[in-house]
Amino acid sequence: MALENEYSWSKSRDGKFRECLRAYWFHYYGAWGGWSRDAPERTTALYRLKNVRSRQMWAGDVVHRCIERALTNVRRGIEPLAADAAIDATIQTMRDEWRLSLAGSVKERLGEHEYEIRLPDAEWQDNADHTRQCLWNFYASRLWETLRKLPAERWLEIEALNSFDFEGTKVFVKLDVAFRDDDGRIVLIDWKTGRAPDPDHSMQVATYALYAAQAWGGAPTDVETRLAHLATGSNESVTLSEKALEAALSRIRASIRDMRQKLAPDGANVAQEADFPLVADPRTCRRCNFRRVCLNEGLIPPLSPPDGGRL
Ligand code: SF4
Repeated sequence: MALENEYSWSKSRDGKFRECLRAYWFHYYGAWGGWSRDAPERTTALYRLKNVRSRQMWAGDVVHRCIERALTNVRRGIEPLAADAAIDATIQTMRDEWRLSLAGSVKERLGEHEYEIRLPDAEWQDNADHTRQCLWNFYASRLWETLRKLPAERWLEIEALNSFDFEGTKVFVKLDVAFRDDDGRIVLIDWKTGRAPDPDHSMQVATYALYAAQAWGGAPTDVETRLAHLATGSNESVTLSEKALEAALSRIRASIRDMRQKLAPDGANVAQEADFPLVADPRTCRRCNFRRVCLNEGLIPPLSPPDGGRL
């Protein structure tokens, strides 16, 4: 059965929509089908570029994978690796993936390699050190202590990609961890690996709370989300009031409405490239995955190279 490009909403989709409409189109429409051998050359190129990651995103991903492995083992009653062994294994994984990226892997491709950005070794080392620090903070955290001892029946979910219906729109969520605390309350954990806290997490927390309430019962306003800032080891506990929840939902509705207005008149998830203007901000283009296409096709003026790179 052929895959269908179905419209759905997520916080990351909203971020792309706000940043550059053309990049949004490339990501969700232009790249669609680019995995097929029969795909047109441009579609294949867009699909490949869509999957390119920055070194910061990559570091966040390896941290999540390491924690997921530890928690999955704990949940299954398997003794997890000691912190130092798990962290060493993660850094080794990074070395392996870095080499794959350098060699041109489609699956493991870093933006720095894709765009031949000559990054000093110290920057790569800093990225690895940051990863190590995030993981040390995780293993030293009270959350890890709590989760290690969590009775089997209180686990709800670890890193599962799910969706739920929000007023007729499919919304995707991937909870890092969900469990019930001593009082039976639903607690969600979001591992944050950025160096600076995200100042705007209300839409994300609202979608988590809505999903949790639909999946396991109760009210979204009873769900606690803990934002675990692994770079610093600090935590933030968020429980949305009715007012905050409604404000976040209004923003999600507005985002969905704006995106749907760009689709075919019959509401089908079909979008025309010409309806998605290019952003006129070189700062955005300089860190955009798709800049090669825009530059090669003369859609944007030449950019001064970032960090000594080519584009
Ligand atoms: S390079 Fe610039 S204009 Fe082109 S898709 Fe990216 S952000 Fe948009």
